[in-house]
Amino acid sequence: MADNDSVVIKCPACGCEMVKVFMPKAGVNLDVCINGCGGIYFDNREFLEFDEPHEDISPLEELFKDKEFKHVDENQTRYCPVCGNAMMKNYSDIGKEVQVDECYSCGGKFLDNQEIKKIRSLNSPENRQRSDAIVKNLYSSVGIELEEKKKRYNQLTHGFNKLSRMIFAVFMIITILVICIGFILTFLVK
Ligand SMILES: [Zn+2]
Ligand SMILES: [Zn+2]
Repeated sequence: MADNDSVVIKCPACGCEMVKVFMPKAGVNLDVCINGCGGIYFDNREFLEFDEPHEDISPLEELFKDKEFKHVDENQTRYCPVCGNAMMKNYSDIGKEVQVDECYSCGGKFLDNQEIKKIRSLNSPENRQRSDAIVKNLYSSVGIELEEKKKRYNQLTHGFNKLSRMIFAVFMIITILVICIGFILTFLVK
């Protein structure tokens, strides 16, 4: 883990100094904008220690209890507080419901107030199952659609084959007729 443990960093959303909060179960410090917007900055990979509902975030919950936070514009471009690069807006869940800011240079992530809770509930086993079901359903309906397209195509080509056979037969009959008439004519002329 890239450690900025001794350095105080500034919140990429509101500019307030972030406070280190020690998370004993994971053994890491998180940077929390406790005096500003309530955002949380995670170093590379730290986020994975907290994104599922069974993982402990009680120190954060304790800290956030009954607190009011500054409102911030979530659409603004944020700059990584550790390396200064513009952060990218990205989704952390399959349903694309929660947008987080990610630094592609150091792997840091910034979550606005309450986003950690939303992501954790989206990552609950029931929700994962639901997402899997949605994906499966999607694949199977795409499969059915493809099957139907194939059927329609086969019907079409079948019809076309029949038509071309008929045209060929008519063409042959006409040719034979023309040849016969030719014979008869030359016979009559003689
Ligand atoms: Zn902030
Ligand atoms: Zn960075």
